[in-house]
Amino acid sequence: MTGLDLDYRHRTTLRFSRALMIIMVVGSIGRTFIAYLPDFVVWLGFFNVALAVVAYLVIRSKRLLHYESQIVVALCFIYVYPLFFTTGGVNSQYVYFMTLIPMVAALVGSVRMTWTVCVIQLLLIVLLFMLGDSIPDLTGYPFIEEKTRVRSVWLMVGVIIASYFGVYFRTAYDEQSVMLDNLASVDYLTGLLNRRALKARLDNELQRSARSAQPLSVLMMDVDFFKQFNDQHGHAAGDDCLIKVARCLRKHTRAEDIVSRYGGEEFLIVLINADVKETLTVAEKLRQAIADLDPLACGDNISVTIGAASMAPATSLDQLPEAEDLIREADEALYRGKEAGRNRVEYFNRSETKAIKSNPAYT
Ligand code: GH3
Ligand code: MG
Ligand code: MG
Repeated sequence: MTGLDLDYRHRTTLRFSRALMIIMVVGSIGRTFIAYLPDFVVWLGFFNVALAVVAYLVIRSKRLLHYESQIVVALCFIYVYPLFFTTGGVNSQYVYFMTLIPMVAALVGSVRMTWTVCVIQLLLIVLLFMLGDSIPDLTGYPFIEEKTRVRSVWLMVGVIIASYFGVYFRTAYDEQSVMLDNLASVDYLTGLLNRRALKARLDNELQRSARSAQPLSVLMMDVDFFKQFNDQHGHAAGDDCLIKVARCLRKHTRAEDIVSRYGGEEFLIVLINADVKETLTVAEKLRQAIADLDPLACGDNISVTIGAASMAPATSLDQLPEAEDLIREADEALYRGKEAGRNRVEYFNRSETKAIKSNPAYT
């Protein structure tokens, strides 16, 4: 489930639980005016109101963010099934609500939850029918077996249709969510993560590395004289070259490392659990692999300059550098690499950089 999806579900369950709370309050008070009700029904109403308020507050607090859909679907069952068992089973005036429950499950839950709700309801309808006129009906309507049987069948049909369309909606929505998430986080040319997705992943990885006291490094890579390459070979060949560089980077890094296209001909690689020595080894290996790459298969090689910066294992979350700081440090090292003649790896050294910054020649 994507972050956006979780947020959408939260907002939907919050809206739904608020609506349920209002219905419970208005219904519990209102129905005492339209019909005579035995005491236990009135008490059940109060119980439901209390439950609705608690559920609404719990959902609003986001404490059970991953269980909100289960909570609202369970609430639907808790609210309506006691009513069926006291107001004539499938002849109850409340049966209209039965087809709504799978819809709710589809709206805020999953395909599995929708079919589960469907099967539970079908079984409960059979049970309600089999119990027949032994179910009390507070409104005192006469029990007609044939009509009850026909109603049960059509009710089951209604529940199945509601579930089927609910599942259709859920499947289409889930597919679109995945597609949107991909579109928003993958670079269309190289298939690597884009800058936006990289930022989110790097923030997560920094936190995770700090918790497990592991080092982490960032490599900022820029293709040298790429404008010239484009001018000489054309933009299409330039695009092809970037795809080959991307593939080469993925091939020479571990699955857990993050490879992203940061901008035009700039790539940012996050090396998980890599100390300074390993970072420099990997950076040099990448530089060499790309130097050996012949993107046009005509002996015309390209080169890259790489700036590297590392985060030492943090002992507490307070020591955690910001993602932007690490990227800026790697970028500064890259700039120095370009200045020093390109086609090389430069490491960001904090004490040295201070010296550079205080040198008027660099300001
Ligand atoms: P330097 O060594 O200083 O990095 O020189 P450079 O020519 O690589 O740097 P500059 O920033 O002057 O030019 C970057 C070039 O990258 C210009 C731009 O046309 C090209 N570029 C950026 N994105 C793409 C892309 O998606 N496809 C192609 N073909 N070229 C791109
Ligand atoms: Mg550039
Ligand atoms: Mg460049």
